[in-house]
Amino acid sequence: MKNWIQTFILFLIAAAVFIFNSSTTCSSSMLALVTDQIQSSSYSPYSEDDSFLYKKNFRKSGKQIVYAFKKAYPHKVEQIEFRNNDWALKISGTWFHYCEGRLLPEGSLNQKYEYTAYPFYRYEKGLPPLPVFTEQEKKLIEAKIAEREFNPPHRHPGIYNALWRISDEATAWERVKNIYFLGKKTQIHRELLEELAAVEEEIMEKAKTDSELKAFIASIADTAGYTWRKIADTNSLSCHAYGIAIDIIPKRMSKLITYWLWAKEYHKEWYSIPYKDRFIPPLTFIEAFERHGFIWGGKWFYFDTIHFEYKPEILILNGWDLD
Ligand SMILES: [Zn+2]
Repeated sequence: MKNWIQTFILFLIAAAVFIFNSSTTCSSSMLALVTDQIQSSSYSPYSEDDSFLYKKNFRKSGKQIVYAFKKAYPHKVEQIEFRNNDWALKISGTWFHYCEGRLLPEGSLNQKYEYTAYPFYRYEKGLPPLPVFTEQEKKLIEAKIAEREFNPPHRHPGIYNALWRISDEATAWERVKNIYFLGKKTQIHRELLEELAAVEEEIMEKAKTDSELKAFIASIADTAGYTWRKIADTNSLSCHAYGIAIDIIPKRMSKLITYWLWAKEYHKEWYSIPYKDRFIPPLTFIEAFERHGFIWGGKWFYFDTIHFEYKPEILILNGWDLD
């Protein structure tokens, strides 16, 4: 009898070990599957692919991306060339290679696997419809975010350093200027003063006849441009560190949601939070920014609805005409 009980206990332990092993193999192969799907559906294998998240493909070649930069920054991009089997662009005398979206300076091509690609993504006019995900896709999103936390994107800052002539906090301070935007004091890159003035002019003009827009302007508590910092939970510099991003902060948030990373803490399916529960400036306000080369973070899957940043290359890649 005692022998039988011992055998039974050993059997239970063996069964438990077997189940544990197969479940861990299962979850790691699940992650491999996610990575495979993300990589195979993307034109550039190391980019943060968004076609799965937006349920739409957005594939641009190295040539299209390099030409979008030339059109976006005509006075900064000095030359474009097909060099050593890859598209490249020259800024301030340095060649940057497309390198599957990584945009690496020629001197860093040997370390290419250390770097993540820049995201080049679909950006629609108006509010894009929120995607509806299947249960399996929701699991893939969770795995993608877990992977992101474990292995945050690390982009080579060289190309934006060259475009904005900023390499550290000291040079950033030399490039930014104190301004008033919609009556609030902030700091912005000196080379964006005209663009931001044009945005402001358009907003003020429209507000004369648009009462919703007028009320929104009155509800702004603060505008936050330059700050020396990285993107939350990543190793990459934020656009705020270049003085090319501006946050519009309202006096009252009224429980509206602004940022995916905070929403994730208490909403399991934070990406399904309807627009009515998110803080959203009037479309006329957003469009004034867009016409002058700024994109609004509220259209990102990883949304940040108070955030605007100057990225004309994204709008050009999406076929927008800019003023
Ligand atoms: Zn921001």
